Amino acid sequence: MNFYDVAIIGGGLAGLTSGIHLSRLGFRVVIIEKHEFPRHKVCGEYISNEVLPYLKWLDLDIEALKPSHISTLRFTTANGRMYESQLPGGGFGISRFAFDHFLFENAAQSGCDFVFASVTDVSFLNDIFTVTTNDGHHITAKIALGAFGKRSNLDKLLQRQFALKKSNWLAIKAHYDVDFPDDVVGLYNFAGGYCGVSQVEDGKVNICYLTDYKSFAGFKDATAFQSSILSQNPELAKIFSSARMIFEKPMTISQISFDSKPQVENHILMIGDSAGLIHPLCGNGMAMAILAAKMASEAATEFLLSRMSRLECEASYSRKWKKQFSSRMRTGRILAFAMRNRSLTDTFLKVLKVFPSLLPAIIAQTHGKPIVVSS
Ligand SMILES: Cc1cc2nc3c(=O)[nH]c(=O)nc-3n(C[C@H](O)[C@H](O)[C@H](O)COP(=O)(O)OP(=O)(O)OC[C@H]3O[C@@H](n4cnc5c(N)ncnc54)[C@H](O)[C@@H]3O)c2cc1C
Repeated sequence: MNFYDVAIIGGGLAGLTSGIHLSRLGFRVVIIEKHEFPRHKVCGEYISNEVLPYLKWLDLDIEALKPSHISTLRFTTANGRMYESQLPGGGFGISRFAFDHFLFENAAQSGCDFVFASVTDVSFLNDIFTVTTNDGHHITAKIALGAFGKRSNLDKLLQRQFALKKSNWLAIKAHYDVDFPDDVVGLYNFAGGYCGVSQVEDGKVNICYLTDYKSFAGFKDATAFQSSILSQNPELAKIFSSARMIFEKPMTISQISFDSKPQVENHILMIGDSAGLIHPLCGNGMAMAILAAKMASEAATEFLLSRMSRLECEASYSRKWKKQFSSRMRTGRILAFAMRNRSLTDTFLKVLKVFPSLLPAIIAQTHGKPIVVSS
């Protein structure tokens, strides 16, 4: 049995960020992650600049990874009509392969312990968590953070409502060698979904799209779907016609749910996608995961230093999460609905031609201000 201040279940962006935050404050932290680093993940890999002040506070120099710097949003309708706008605040492009590995190395240097195994059970008894893994570890901790992503075996274990339902969405991603400006993130609409295109480090281009099962059914693989459906958007057809895939084959994930989730379950503070996944067209899930990691780390600190009871810590985190993210999630759902309706997106583009300031204003609704950190 190992005893920790904090056990973090899942070593993605949210888990690793809170691991760095809490271990730098001197707490004993363990991160339990089922996969080794580095590895690719299905993600658009565009990150809003709002996280930069906090990454700096954590002493994380993102420039060392040579990200692309993105300042423009290119939006095209399914029939290829295009509109470009400045991105309020901007962002950067970095692969999850590089970013998660960088955070892992920093977490390990900060003193986090790592257990590479799958968590199969979390119990809470006598004010202590016990986390059990498939290889027989029993880890005990005063605080547990749930950072296990969009959908995990633990969601079923905790009987979370969204995990008991089937979801309509799947996503596909690969890196390509293709000409695409390094300061643009493209959002390309197509029948049944939308596709993000942007550069990451080393000039590689990430193409990542979300679609529903109904649209994908009947196609034997992603390549067939891309040439029949995505390429009906003439702008996407142009990109695919000159793109050479760097991956051996595209990566796919399924059962992606955008349903609301509680931020605290069985006293576990949920962070990142475990607390709620925003529609990827907002390009803000990673920033939200990082900000939620900060908020949960602050709440956990108050509890561990006996400045808050456990219930106060849980209530304070849950309240702050809702205040920060509820309206972004709502706007994301409305935009995703609008993107699925061809005549609505065509009308939207016509309105944009007349009122160009509308697009940055809508984007701002799905993003936050630069994260404030106390020195
Ligand atoms: C198609 C798509 C495109 C996206 N594009 C963007 C984008 O361009 N910009 C953006 O900001 N956001 C984007 N997002 C959202 C972004 O990917 C997520 O919000 C972000 O990855 C959340 O990080 P996380 O740490 O919560 O989860 P993850 O990064 O998924 O990490 C969860 C970790 O938990 C581990 N885990 C799960 N279960 C267990 C277990 N039982 N035991 C041990 N470990 C476990 C997993 O192995 C994983 O490493 C996109 C999402 C999708 C679906």
